[in-house]
Amino acid sequence: MKSKLNFVNIKLKSIKQENLYRELREGIVKGPLITINKKKLLNLCSNDYLGIQVTKLAIKQIQSSSRLVSGNDSSFKILETKLAKHKSQEQGLVFPTGYMANLGSITSVIQKGDLILSDERNHASIIEGCRLSGAKISVYKHNDIEDLNQKLRSKEKRKFIITEGIFSMDGDFANLKQIVEIAQKNNAITILDDAHGDFVIGNDGKGTPNHFGVSKKIDLYISSLSKGLGSFGGYIASQKNVIDLCINRSKSFIYTSALPSFLVEFSLKRFESNRKKQQEKLWKNVRHLITGLRQLGYQINSETHIIPIIIGSEKNALTFGKFLFYKGIYAQPIRYPTVKRNKARIRISVSAWLSKNQIDDAIDVFEAAGKKFDII
Ligand code: PMP
Repeated sequence: MKSKLNFVNIKLKSIKQENLYRELREGIVKGPLITINKKKLLNLCSNDYLGIQVTKLAIKQIQSSSRLVSGNDSSFKILETKLAKHKSQEQGLVFPTGYMANLGSITSVIQKGDLILSDERNHASIIEGCRLSGAKISVYKHNDIEDLNQKLRSKEKRKFIITEGIFSMDGDFANLKQIVEIAQKNNAITILDDAHGDFVIGNDGKGTPNHFGVSKKIDLYISSLSKGLGSFGGYIASQKNVIDLCINRSKSFIYTSALPSFLVEFSLKRFESNRKKQQEKLWKNVRHLITGLRQLGYQINSETHIIPIIIGSEKNALTFGKFLFYKGIYAQPIRYPTVKRNKARIRISVSAWLSKNQIDDAIDVFEAAGKKFDII
């Protein structure tokens, strides 16, 4: 080992001391189950919310270049047209991931001298995008319209409000109706990352804005194809000129290889599948699990497929997670910096893969865990 890299060990040691160490575990996912270290577990942390049955991938040659060079397969246009319609926007643009869609679009549209109003619980990729844009960032209290209103009283000419639709670690909805109203009153531009609402909620899975009846009032829509749709990639949808600017300015679009076209076709197949049936099954599962957990005495504030069980200390969250693992449930303890310190939690994500019996089994395990750890 090179001694000049010894400082890395010091960093790692401090991460471990704070109970914040993460490691990769080999996991093989099959339907509602995941196998880890030869142990089969019920997978309660999949973001493949709709659980659309796997369609065969036809793997062709990979384009191996940027979309602006030689990687713009015709399937992109077909998918982007469908996604734009899905979001009631003029045009769509596919990025290699949702993370890159956030980075690329935010930095293309927002610049130094602008003001960004960002919810304090926004995803890391939004935060990174905002920082890279060079704009002034004003973080408002989570979903707090009063605070947002207050912070909008700032002198910058161009103002952007940016929020998630369904928050990834809390499972609650953004106050989107009020946010959109405030944006209109203040001539602010609304950017929505709906990675966790897209394909899952709203008529035909059109997402959180559709659920609140405000689809047309979102100025820039950002999402992932890797969650509700269970495919891979990210995308944005907006007016034609915004998309045009992103094609010309987004570094995470221009200077990277195109998403392989077999994944674009995979998204298309899933988009055209019977999503409605899966959406109905998902929400049935959500209601069943939330009701079961509440009946046990858990305080569940979420009404969606993302259900956090707040534990508090990082150490206790890890022990709770280990107990679930031992009992055959895979649900990740989420810790700082993903959430605030001492707000560690078990994040359950429900999917349509799960059967009613499997959810009942999970509820039994949560009963045992809740009693053991004195939570219920
Ligand atoms: N936005 C939010 C709110 C997310 O939760 C995630 C993924 N965790 C992303 C963006 C990034 O999406 P992707 O996984 O497609 O990069």
